[in-house]
Amino acid sequence: MWEESYQLGYIRARTVDDLWGYCRECYYAETCMAGCTAAEPLLGRPGNNPFCHHAR
Ligand code: SF4
Repeated sequence: MWEESYQLGYIRARTVDDLWGYCRECYYAETCMAGCTAAEPLLGRPGNNPFCHHAR
């Protein structure tokens, strides 16, 4: 599903360069990619995830 799903394509193509704020510099960014995508509608773009417990 991860490799072929059209709906997940925008997440699959994401790189650390697409992130902003503290997510961009985070040690886990390559794996996490700013965490839950539910934060994106709130902020308008991936990164600086206000729900992250690691960044606090
Ligand atoms: S959501 Fe948290 S763990 Fe994930 S990249 Fe951002 S700061 Fe790092």
